[in-house]
Amino acid sequence: MRNRSSHKLARSLALLVVLAANSNSQVSNAHGREPQPDLRTNGSVAISVLSLFHPEKIIVTALAGHALVLVAGEQSLILEDSQVSSARVRIEGAELVISSGEQELRATNLIGVGRRNDSEDFILEIPGKIKRRYHGTLAVKSSFGNLLAVVTLDLETAVASAVAAESAPNTPLEALKANAIAARSYFVAGRGRHQSFDFCDTTHCQFLRAPPPPTSLASQAVQATQGLVLMYQSRPFAALYTRSCSGRTRTPAQLSLPSAGYPYYSVDCERCRQHPVRWSSNLSIGDAGSLRPSDEGTRLAVARRLGWSAVPSNQFSLARQGDHLRLAGVGNGHGIGLCQAGAKAMAESGASFQQILQHYYPNTEIVQYPGRNPVD
Ligand SMILES: [Zn+2]
Ligand SMILES: [Zn+2]
Repeated sequence: MRNRSSHKLARSLALLVVLAANSNSQVSNAHGREPQPDLRTNGSVAISVLSLFHPEKIIVTALAGHALVLVAGEQSLILEDSQVSSARVRIEGAELVISSGEQELRATNLIGVGRRNDSEDFILEIPGKIKRRYHGTLAVKSSFGNLLAVVTLDLETAVASAVAAESAPNTPLEALKANAIAARSYFVAGRGRHQSFDFCDTTHCQFLRAPPPPTSLASQAVQATQGLVLMYQSRPFAALYTRSCSGRTRTPAQLSLPSAGYPYYSVDCERCRQHPVRWSSNLSIGDAGSLRPSDEGTRLAVARRLGWSAVPSNQFSLARQGDHLRLAGVGNGHGIGLCQAGAKAMAESGASFQQILQHYYPNTEIVQYPGRNPVD
């Protein structure tokens, strides 16, 4: 179960990698990316899904009223609810075995697409563990004894799924728009983080949920900002955001992190200054390891072992009590870039998405991508 804390961790972990990555890296034409991108938008994003569960079996199901064509080597079968709507995929030796009703296909790769070789709605299930709906095309292969499932989503679908997964309830439209632009920038500039796909859906890269309904505020925010990204010095950068800061946002340098693509700035955040989110925690000396305040790297090392709630932010004081350390902190997340709590408050006071983005990402432009026209 992915909760709010875990995607805060996701952002934080993503930070380290994004900052170290070449923000201009191109999508490789790696294996498993064959389905054509949807050309209505600015390309697609390939995300490895459910890998946290190291699946050996996956059930693929076409959504009611939809048909998913499964192609395995020279063979294919169609999943649809008037016939057989599910297929089981498992590994046998070097092959995938795909069984559905009476049919059984064997191949090293499986592709799932709509009837027109396009995106389709489908469900992936790891029996007894998780079931999740996607809209995109599917590629499955075996990888180190597990199934590797990669969903290629239209960029805008990916942005909507991320905004829906990461926004607090009751966030106003303008704040969601700002978030959508930051998320889109992250997807565009942070691509190619893995060899045969762009992002994973674990703490390392980007959490994903089912796409929100088209009428939702998150979908409206994505549609209203379609194709817009943040650019610094004429290049999109993987814009980071944080759930709540400590009253000022932080720069990577202040947190002993490298920066690439955009230097970030430490800006005032009125909402968090006036209503700080405080937390406290107890850690054994051993668990704390080399943990230090204002050092994101050491915080993430602890979070990887103990979970996010052990150290919710990098702004805290430490006091030794016997064999324990008492931590008293403020904020949620790494504190870099857009503060979601602050953005929500700004939108509630009437700020536009442009004003929100200009506040948290000074010296940037909001630009239609891949076009180059700055937006007023
Ligand atoms: Zn990843
Ligand atoms: Zn803040």
